Amino acid sequence: MRAETSQLPSSTYPISDLGSLIFDWGSEGRWVRCDLHLHTVLSPCAEVEMIPPLIVRRALALGLDLIAVTDHNATHNVEAVQRAAAGTPLTVWPGMEVQTREEVHLLCLFDNNAAAFAWQARVDASLPPLMNDPEHFGGQFVVDATGEFIRHHTPLLLTSTAFSIEEATAQVNALGGLVIPCHVDRPSFSLLANLGFVPPDLAAPALEISARLTPAQARAQFPMLGAWPLVQNGDAHRLNEMIGRTRVRLTALTIPELAAALRCPARLAIDIG
Ligand SMILES: [Zn+2]
Ligand SMILES: [Zn+2]
Repeated sequence: MRAETSQLPSSTYPISDLGSLIFDWGSEGRWVRCDLHLHTVLSPCAEVEMIPPLIVRRALALGLDLIAVTDHNATHNVEAVQRAAAGTPLTVWPGMEVQTREEVHLLCLFDNNAAAFAWQARVDASLPPLMNDPEHFGGQFVVDATGEFIRHHTPLLLTSTAFSIEEATAQVNALGGLVIPCHVDRPSFSLLANLGFVPPDLAAPALEISARLTPAQARAQFPMLGAWPLVQNGDAHRLNEMIGRTRVRLTALTIPELAAALRCPARLAIDIG
């Protein structure tokens, strides 16, 4: 990334996050391969290679149809990745990995940018007034579709919002989004590590396991997962951590369709091996 650049005019890169909606999916729908959890250089913990054109190239190489850009408490690089994917078969959903006040990470997914940015405004208002320390945490870079530097994002992102798990879930759902608790098998920032259980009334269609284990291993190791549907995402902080194991059968690329598919065993698959 260069130190300085001006933002490219948006007309150069038409945003196509809803482009696949015009595809005729038929009543049976089709299998959609997805990785719904990845970080760009906006996340201080992500490598500098996590820029829009390289993310899109990697996604296409993996055969992915759908990715979600889910930086920590932030959505500011979503449009850049969408522009980088314009003209390709890849759909890019806006998302966020929000950190609740219990220090639990929740994937927040949306099928339109307006809802995601409305959620962003609420998250901004709930974050403590702290600045990022790039020396300690790493830089938080807002970039354009080519990966060129636009600005530093200065608020501290690696911290908890004021929202409880229940509050965040209710607000995201009310905005038409969907919540999936992140990497529940991990020993930190997860439902099982921080709470020790899955809240029985959690308004989420599925739980996410990390790429380190198979669904069968996760269920054997964590009996409290019970009958919860599981998805597996890369939680990529570098390009080679993106994965393409989760497939869902959808009749349209919308949040309600994804939620319905996640709750239906015949419409959800994780390819292992
Ligand atoms: Zn996380
Ligand atoms: Zn993450």
